[in-house]
Amino acid sequence: MAGTKTFTMLKPDAVSKGYIGDILKQITGSGFRIVALKMTHMTENDAKAFYEVHKERPFYGELVDYMTSGPIVAAVLEKENAVDDFRTLIGATNPEEAAEGTIRKKYATSISENAIHGSDSDENAMIESNFHFSGREQF
Ligand code: ADP
Ligand code: MG
Repeated sequence: MAGTKTFTMLKPDAVSKGYIGDILKQITGSGFRIVALKMTHMTENDAKAFYEVHKERPFYGELVDYMTSGPIVAAVLEKENAVDDFRTLIGATNPEEAAEGTIRKKYATSISENAIHGSDSDENAMIESNFHFSGREQF
């Protein structure tokens, strides 16, 4: 059975452009409950560890630089079928390929600066939530 939690980050481009309120409104308006929420600034070590699965990819260095370039908003979200439904809501990695109305279509800058993260599996949702939040910060 699909899990009920996912993890997201509003990335530095979305935060610096002032989209926090609009994006959170679209998320909660789509049936997700906010379980945990904070603004934070990832260190280089944080970003390297968070994206370690991508360390052999050519864009890894650029991704770490981007994710540490300014504050982000991290959140844990709850909904039935959370991981898949949230990936649908955010749209394709490349905003040029993202469906109309998706968060990346509306707010992303480019394939690298693409506004928002969404976990890709129930297991990663739990790992990523616990990377950013203690148990006492998740409601
Ligand atoms: P997603 O975030 O859709 O799960 P990936 O896990 O494949 O995408 O990649 C992680 C992040 O790395 C993307 O959200 C994006 O910020 C960046 N990225 C992915 N592919 C590229 C690329 N070809 N060039 C630059 N940055 C990329
Ligand atoms: Mg991914």
